[in-house]
Amino acid sequence: MKQRIALLGSTGSIGRQTLDIVRENPDLFEIRTLSAHSNWEELARQAVAFDADSAVIADERHYDALRRALDGTSVKAYAGEEALRQVAGESQNDVVVNALVGYAGLRPTEAAILAGKKVALANKETLVAGGCRIMPLAAARKVPIVPIDSEHSAILQCLVGEQSPVRRLIITCSGGAFRDRPREELEHATVEEALRHPQWRMGAKITIDSATLVNKGFEVIEAHWLFGIPADRIAVVLHPQSIVHSMVEFRDGAIKAQLGEADMRTPIAYALGFPRRLEREVAPFSFADHPTLTFAEVDRVKYPALDIAYDCLRRGGTAGCTMNGANEVAVAAFLGHRCGYPAIVRCIEQVLSRASFSANPSFDDLAAADREARQLAAEYLNL
Ligand code: NDP
Ligand code: MG
Repeated sequence: MKQRIALLGSTGSIGRQTLDIVRENPDLFEIRTLSAHSNWEELARQAVAFDADSAVIADERHYDALRRALDGTSVKAYAGEEALRQVAGESQNDVVVNALVGYAGLRPTEAAILAGKKVALANKETLVAGGCRIMPLAAARKVPIVPIDSEHSAILQCLVGEQSPVRRLIITCSGGAFRDRPREELEHATVEEALRHPQWRMGAKITIDSATLVNKGFEVIEAHWLFGIPADRIAVVLHPQSIVHSMVEFRDGAIKAQLGEADMRTPIAYALGFPRRLEREVAPFSFADHPTLTFAEVDRVKYPALDIAYDCLRRGGTAGCTMNGANEVAVAAFLGHRCGYPAIVRCIEQVLSRASFSANPSFDDLAAADREARQLAAEYLNL
């Protein structure tokens, strides 16, 4: 039987690459639902090409345009956040691929879990903001959450088949766009420079998060929630070549690593096929092309965001949610040329110092923490 997929965020970087995997495997997968935020043209094209049952545009202002574009086809058009949650929990799906960006991904993940659907999760903000609610819910409903993020996919691949507890998770880090630039020269870093990631082509938000290392901090939090390992047993190591996607160290001193070219279709295919591997026509890895793999400590002074994320993980409660909300506002402001690069992390620090804190938040408390963080960030940045 084919796996029926609801793909949330199908017009984005992960979304499009997920469609590549579906296209490669027409006997295994079938698209039921696709979604976008505002790109109704691409959404309509995808929905027709994959013969989807429905398409959801999150920004309701584009509903009419989407409906008109789908006129005369069998694809049903929906709009709004509530519709997104509904299609995530729809009974005909087998799996929900959450490739949304930002806090907007949290409630659709919850809806998928409540409906008992396997979740293939790219939207790390789900776990950064709401891991404390999402993971217990997934455990109670026995719903697998399979990571798409390459580091977490690597860790999962290292853990499969192991029975013994692990000593450490070791998350590799490319270093982002400013890896080779001295700290003193980051004051005036431009948007264009920050968007030039040395290894990966990704959406704008995560590319900026990679430049500040907020992304790596988020991945530490994500790893904690996915694998149940405390902060002091999750390490980050700089690995500029992005060939080792992450590692697990066991109690006997052995370390397992997962390697390969930097291509998100590999972890996407693994998440969709899990626990099996899909067959893909990928050229054999050439060690001759990658003769040197190097590892180094991350400069914690140059990249304060990493320690801020560790602090948030140790504090628990709404701290991660607050960090995420502040970061979303600051990154959007930076991308819109309304604040400088250093203001992103300063904004996060400021907001965390001023925001209220709840140790055991409900989903409503998380929504309130997200709202408060956004408001404080907007005040700090004079938006
Ligand atoms: P993109 O910005 O490329 O795509 C985001 C998708 O979500 C688009 O379909 C967009 O629609 C939609 N979207 C954006 N905002 C909203 C909203 N408020 N409500 C509903 N839908 C929305 O992001 P990426 O694909 O790069 O990233 C997706 C997630 O995967 C992120 O959490 C990221 O951290 C994670 N990730 C990404 C990797 C990558 O290689 N790209 C690697 C590892 C993790 P529209 O096109 O209409 O704007
Ligand atoms: Mg990653």
